[in-house]
Amino acid sequence: MSLVTQVRQAGVVGAGGGGFPAHVKLVAKADTVIANGAECEPLLHKDAAVLQHRAAEVVRGILLSAEAVGAADVVIAIKGKKKYAVAAVEAACAGTRVRVHLLEDYYPAGDEYDLVHSVTGRLIPPAGLPIHVGVVVQNVETLANIAAAADGRPVIRKTITIAGAVRQPATFEVPIGISLRECIAAAGGATVADPVLNIGGMMMGEATSDLDRPVTKTTAGVIVLPRDHDVMERKFKSPQVQAAIGKSACDQCRYCTEFCPRFLLGYAVEPHQVMRSLGFTATGSERFSEWAGLCCSCGLCTLYACPEQLYPKEACDDSKAVLRAKGWKWTGATSVEAHPMHDGRRVPVKSLMKRLGIDGYDHPAPLQEGVLTTNRAVLPLKQHAGAPALAKVDVGQSVAAGQIIAEPAPDALGAIIHAPFGATVEAVTATAIILRIT
Ligand code: SF4
Ligand code: SF4
Repeated sequence: MSLVTQVRQAGVVGAGGGGFPAHVKLVAKADTVIANGAECEPLLHKDAAVLQHRAAEVVRGILLSAEAVGAADVVIAIKGKKKYAVAAVEAACAGTRVRVHLLEDYYPAGDEYDLVHSVTGRLIPPAGLPIHVGVVVQNVETLANIAAAADGRPVIRKTITIAGAVRQPATFEVPIGISLRECIAAAGGATVADPVLNIGGMMMGEATSDLDRPVTKTTAGVIVLPRDHDVMERKFKSPQVQAAIGKSACDQCRYCTEFCPRFLLGYAVEPHQVMRSLGFTATGSERFSEWAGLCCSCGLCTLYACPEQLYPKEACDDSKAVLRAKGWKWTGATSVEAHPMHDGRRVPVKSLMKRLGIDGYDHPAPLQEGVLTTNRAVLPLKQHAGAPALAKVDVGQSVAAGQIIAEPAPDALGAIIHAPFGATVEAVTATAIILRIT
């Protein structure tokens, strides 16, 4: 069986948050494969844990991937500050053709456009993908899962960090489908009376009050914070209120644009112009919305740059939704030149944590031994980019660990989903399969 088929059968998707089906990237031809271990979201440590404890699998996964796409340059990118992980990776790479590229500690070092530029010096064409400059990028946990897939082992577990307002911040290996409530309990429980969550991180993650959300193939971790934390209060404001505040208070200072990592790489992203689409100028909104088309939703403009605490990232997200609905395509220049201030204006993660008011939560979150257990798993049918998978099991049916319980429609982009443990199917809904050990 080819690696592409093995990886598809194992249901491997981008484990850093993107969820792109990994087998699709292995069909391409590229001269470079980069393992993305940048992990730039503050307080998250799961990629470092994977590199430290599964270094040999990551190296095997990247070598298999490089062979599949025909790449000569094979690179593991990791922040130099993650010393234990760097030592483990360097030891695992010894005697192989894999090289280690050390990144500085800035945000968003893991954005694919930024990472490809850091490692290769190449700039991805506007609205393009790494493959357009001959590069395949895979998260480090994805690569470990590719190695496992080559041995016939499907993706049924996830490595996640639980950090923030919990008694013992830690990184865990957990069955996919376990609730975040159980993971937080394993981290000693919340230290605040009314905890809320940032699933996936403070910057690009999703804010929610729902502790019963399940871990999926793309959950990198959770930051627990009190509901009255300044950033959480900002995030929980309704889109209407966010837009109304922006309309009344944006003074067009341009700080959001001047710190935007995409703008600094040379792309036509200018969030201060997008803010005009909120309607405080006489000019039409559509024209300004196009300045959001190449935004990567990193959140720096809203959570770091704007001195008025406005919401340029959210304005960009709205504009991108409008552009997508209209079938917008980039029609400008195809070559890009980085801004002269690109290197000088990078945002150190330490400064970012201070601005976010989470520097007091900056503790190690070491990987705990063993795998957390649960007797119930909620498995969303869409844990990946593309179309939801289709359920292949019925209520009351017994399933074995690793059994396929859902798969994409023929020819649809998507990923197979497996049972994380032996159990009975409790429910099959329009969006999820629920398993329970009875
Ligand atoms: S930084 Fe804030 S106030 Fe300044 S232009 Fe951007 S959104 Fe407006
Ligand atoms: S979220 Fe803001 S800072 Fe980040 S890429 Fe988009 S416009 Fe730029």
